[in-house]
Amino acid sequence: MTSKRYFPPELLYDFLKIKNDQINSKILGYSVNGLPIYKLRIGNGKQKIFMWSQMHGNETTTTKAILDFIPWLLDPLRSDTLNLFTFHIIPQLNPDGAKAYTRFNADQFDLNRDSIKLSQPESKLLRMEYDRIKPHYALNLHGQRTIYGAGVNGGPATLSFLSPSANPERSITPARRIAMSAIASIYNSIRDELPLGIGRYDDTFNPNCVGDTFSKAGTPTILFEAGHYPEDYQREVSRNFVFKALKALINHLEGNNKTYDTADYYKIPENINNYVDLIVSNIDISFKDEIFKNQQLAIQFEETLKGGEVVFLPSLNDFSINLSQKAHRYIKLPDNYFNKPISFKQDKILKNSKFDKLFSVKP
Ligand SMILES: [Zn+2]
Repeated sequence: MTSKRYFPPELLYDFLKIKNDQINSKILGYSVNGLPIYKLRIGNGKQKIFMWSQMHGNETTTTKAILDFIPWLLDPLRSDTLNLFTFHIIPQLNPDGAKAYTRFNADQFDLNRDSIKLSQPESKLLRMEYDRIKPHYALNLHGQRTIYGAGVNGGPATLSFLSPSANPERSITPARRIAMSAIASIYNSIRDELPLGIGRYDDTFNPNCVGDTFSKAGTPTILFEAGHYPEDYQREVSRNFVFKALKALINHLEGNNKTYDTADYYKIPENINNYVDLIVSNIDISFKDEIFKNQQLAIQFEETLKGGEVVFLPSLNDFSINLSQKAHRYIKLPDNYFNKPISFKQDKILKNSKFDKLFSVKP
């Protein structure tokens, strides 16, 4: 399987060519542009686990982790697991967005804000399948940007989790309590390997989001977010951590881990938007007809699909004598590295061959 960031529908079709008697695959329906949306059913246990990924087409890491997880499930050693659980898996809910490498579907809708209106075919299919299955657990698999840290004192949020709220008061409903215990269990299984890299998402209630809707309907729901790990722009490290998290979850649901209380869940540091990709220091900036000497320049990489690959373009984010953000990478320039000040405009892509030369390894 690919180790690259781009995961279009063709790569899913390649995976689906693997014939296995234990995988029951069917087409649930079609996207706005008429691409098939597949669902896989594996196992025959009473406990039904419904999971879906790539609702946002450019969030490919959790899809790849699911495709790592499936062969693990099918290992003959795991037959007890498949007698306990039935997995209903939609590995790519938004194939049009996956193809175009966009968050949105082909109608430019964010499918995770369409849970009340259900205006899009993809949202309708997800909801119909949820209503039909009546799952015991729902796993909502996403990817998050590089801007998140795992708490004020943490590193990059390589993994984040959420038990979505079921109401504006954010009450701990029975379904949330179950999800919180499972998340705390996952956290305790992996934290030694990723001590500063696991965060907890903000639980403000938004009924337009699918997770909140399912949580409100009484299903223990877990949001997974695959995030950044240092130097890992293809997200192979976080892919592996998502796989580990899925295994830890199964182990927990099989009753092999202890149950945790809500306090254990709240001990997980809350995600904070405090990172940029790169801070370049000792740089002169021109901004609104003024020159600012010896500044720090924050750069955020913009992901764009080019020639069938995701490329990372440096976009100007912020500058100051002393930036408050943390960066995944710091570069201190030699004096007068650029012959003239860099002209700053928010979100402008920096096109400069001398800038490109700063990277021995490009992201
Ligand atoms: Zn997402």
